[in-house]
Amino acid sequence: MDITAKSKTLNLKLDVEAIRKDFPILQTTVWGKPLVYFDNAATSQKPFVVLNAIEEYYKETNSNVHRGIHYLSNKATDQFEQSRKIIAAHLNASPEEIIYTRGTTEAINLVAFSFGEAFIKEGDEIIVSQMEHHSNIVPWQMLCERKKAVLKVIPITEEGELKLDGFKKLLSPKAKLVAVTHVSNTLGTINPVEEIIEAAHAKNIPVLLDGAQAAPHMKIDVKKLDVDFYCFSGHKTFGPTGIGILYGKAKWLNEMPPYQGGGEMIRKVTLDKTTYNEPPLRFEAGTPNIEASIVLAKAINYINQIGLDAIAKHEHELLLYATDKLQKINGLKIIGTAKHKTSVVSFVVEGTHPSDIGMLLDKQGIAVRTGHHCTQPLIDFYKIPGTVRASLAFYNTFEEINIFVKALNKAIDMLK
Ligand code: PMP
Repeated sequence: MDITAKSKTLNLKLDVEAIRKDFPILQTTVWGKPLVYFDNAATSQKPFVVLNAIEEYYKETNSNVHRGIHYLSNKATDQFEQSRKIIAAHLNASPEEIIYTRGTTEAINLVAFSFGEAFIKEGDEIIVSQMEHHSNIVPWQMLCERKKAVLKVIPITEEGELKLDGFKKLLSPKAKLVAVTHVSNTLGTINPVEEIIEAAHAKNIPVLLDGAQAAPHMKIDVKKLDVDFYCFSGHKTFGPTGIGILYGKAKWLNEMPPYQGGGEMIRKVTLDKTTYNEPPLRFEAGTPNIEASIVLAKAINYINQIGLDAIAKHEHELLLYATDKLQKINGLKIIGTAKHKTSVVSFVVEGTHPSDIGMLLDKQGIAVRTGHHCTQPLIDFYKIPGTVRASLAFYNTFEEINIFVKALNKAIDMLK
């Protein structure tokens, strides 16, 4: 289970070739061509340390948590709770503020339901933005429908940045929650979340950040941000599928009713009345995804060992390199040109459809995503059918960008 990547050096330079050896899937071929995996925003690949830990869990630990008195059950429980502590430390939170969910989507739904039950009433307003993923729109629409509340939308600029003046105008006494993405999955925009939180808190309005596209790329400090809720998905953060994290400030979690009923979340059940457990278990009804919860901490340790600063530096260099190369292609328009971006490049090419380009790239071994990326209101804003999105991770290389650009030129020639 040792990490082969010897990447953490003082000058923040990654040894990408060594890192790539940690990811067996990166050595595979697609349609006879070496895989170029540029769909990291949809899901990331997994290093050996994660793959081995999954196998090890089922071979050596598998048992249910919090219930048994036998050896394996205690071992599983210890590892499950130890993982919570590692994830809490990674976010600078307390373990009681870390809730295991299935992913970002479930984390947001949990807040929309439970926070909504406790704090939202008719006429209240929830603020989202034009660039949200559907999972940070639909749960709030459902809440608004249930409670007769109103959804308000932060406008964006053509470059794909939030209009902060427009945002501040929405901070009325009726506004009860701001829910925005930390990083846009379609545009790569890194939103000025410190400023958003400060402005909302000045009016006593709590803030939820969708960190699905931030957690794989940057250090998150929930205390420093002073954010009220933060969530991300394990599978985008080099960990397993089916696990996600919701951080919630204790002051809110303590006041929120359960999201689902069942085992684990109770203190005492009689047929007349049930009392509930304290957070976080109050929000974790039923048998959790034990293996993935334990293994997520291995993924977090892995990226911390490489170093998030070194990761961010390499990814930024990849972004600049790819942007420069793509801008030189005739008829290609980059969608999302914010000043602060993660390593995501979305684009359209005049006279072509994104899905045709995606298919022709696939045949050359290159995995990108095409379409609306679960951000239909954003795609509508740009009045385009969708984009081709290349989303890069720290294991991607400049050489892969060269291969991608060559393949893209070939695809465009074929389509025109
Ligand atoms: N928010 C953003 C910004 C995302 O990119 C995604 C995944 N594409 C989600 C939320 C939903 O994440 P999941 O499907 O893992 O719940």
